[in-house]
Amino acid sequence: MAKRNMSPVKVEMPSQDPLVRARNFKEVASGYTEEMAREEALRCLQCKHRPCMDGCPVNVKIPEFIQLINEGDYIAANQKILETNVLPAVCGRVCPQESQCEELCVRGVKHEPVAIGRLERFVADYYREHSEPKPHGYEKNGRKVAVVGSGPAGLSCAGDLTRMGYEVTIFESLPEGGGVLVYGIPEFRLPNDIVKNEINQLKLDGVKLETNTIVGRSITIDELFDEYGYEAVFVGSGAGLPVFLGIPGENSVGVYSANEYLTRSNLMRAYDDRYDTPIRHSKRVAVVGGGNVAMDSARTALRIGAEKVYIVYRRSFDEMPARIEEVHHAQEEGVIFNNLTNPTAILHDEQGEVVGMTCIRMELGEPDASGRRRPIPVEGSEFTLEVDTVVIAVGTNPNPLIKSTTEGLDVTSWGGIIADEHGATSREGIFAGGDAVTGAATVISAAGAGKVAAAAIDKYLKEKQS
Ligand code: FAD
Ligand code: SF4
Ligand code: SF4
Repeated sequence: MAKRNMSPVKVEMPSQDPLVRARNFKEVASGYTEEMAREEALRCLQCKHRPCMDGCPVNVKIPEFIQLINEGDYIAANQKILETNVLPAVCGRVCPQESQCEELCVRGVKHEPVAIGRLERFVADYYREHSEPKPHGYEKNGRKVAVVGSGPAGLSCAGDLTRMGYEVTIFESLPEGGGVLVYGIPEFRLPNDIVKNEINQLKLDGVKLETNTIVGRSITIDELFDEYGYEAVFVGSGAGLPVFLGIPGENSVGVYSANEYLTRSNLMRAYDDRYDTPIRHSKRVAVVGGGNVAMDSARTALRIGAEKVYIVYRRSFDEMPARIEEVHHAQEEGVIFNNLTNPTAILHDEQGEVVGMTCIRMELGEPDASGRRRPIPVEGSEFTLEVDTVVIAVGTNPNPLIKSTTEGLDVTSWGGIIADEHGATSREGIFAGGDAVTGAATVISAAGAGKVAAAAIDKYLKEKQS
């Protein structure tokens, strides 16, 4: 084997120049070449106790797949990841690795950790580019399970159940499968074709995807059980209901929830000149919030042609929930950060169109219930940002439709479906996981919840039969 690479830093991943990429929707980073992947894989110490795996919500066998890269067997490396993660090309791109697998990598104690995410992306991309998708030919057991929602929770649950022999149908309200992976995370971070490819593999394995079907409206969960013969239902309907600020002027023309803004851009292809997408082509945009959703909205606004884009966030950089990499990318691309700033009202003209947003500066006080220091307004610091569009990205909650149309399904005060650690809900035969249960979280935690529920559904249905 080649000599271990003791470089203190990760092999860099090539990416587009910030000022060029800020005006196009092509993917920011182009991924490792084979040589780069081999060089980075040699940074892994192949630790016997494998601490990195403890940081991964689905326990990807990290040292094993990296060792297969060392051996040049990238297809086997991909198969190794697929044993526990059905979405490697997605997770390699968007997992917050710095607070998951890479956070626990021993190489990270003194220097930079092994670039686990970049390596995962490399093997998944290699596999896609060098092999023909084909069905795995899983044996069927003739039993039917329905899945509500085709985000990472629903896809991973469906994938595992299909592998176990169940006939799975996913019901999705939108015209395309993928959930937030397709309508939320923009093309420049996660190209839609990557998600489509992973969904196609599931379809080849027998998963049926019924799009444009709103469970609770087009069909109810009770009908799925009573009229269509499904024996269990997994609810992975996400958390797509936007939270607003409750400040004056929020109904003005030119105020969007991030959800609506990104969906219009992604699903209606605002990034493609050949499509006439009904989205405002703004000159000055304020995005309120400090998470990944806010960064994606701000960077999308730049790409649609805005001249000035502001992030308005009430805490400091240290408290921002967005991935560090995404904050850096937004800064490099020219997004202007107004941290420690809170909006107080949205101003509009006589036609109701946004013309500005008044804000107040904040300072940090004592920690609040979340453990983060509470932002307090600084008296007399009010100012106005001249903007023509405001995008609100301060969080989302689960949509109440499923709860309101399903007898006996208990939810929390904010609408999260109550489920135990195996995904079982208060109603027999209904399981749930992902953002619908936890509130807005991460791709891999949703995918992990889908897997856990698939195992619980299998156990439940086997016990029911015996
Ligand atoms: P979703 O992905 O929301 O999927 C739920 C699906 O259910 C949707 O397709 C919805 O249309 C469908 N649905 C809802 N109700 C019904 C119904 N009644 N009938 C039928 N279908 C229904 N996470 C990361 O790890 N890294 C990131 O970089 C990252 N960036 C993000 C950027 C944005 C803009 C957003 C919005 C989120 C981001 N996240 C990120 C979070 C991550 O995408 C979510 O946590 C994850 O997608 C949740 O998966 P899910 O399957 O639970 O729900
Ligand atoms: Fe790391 Fe995410 Fe891959 Fe797990 S799935 S190893 S957390 S990149
Ligand atoms: Fe390799 Fe880091 Fe995991 Fe050790 S902790 S096996 S060095 S990736």
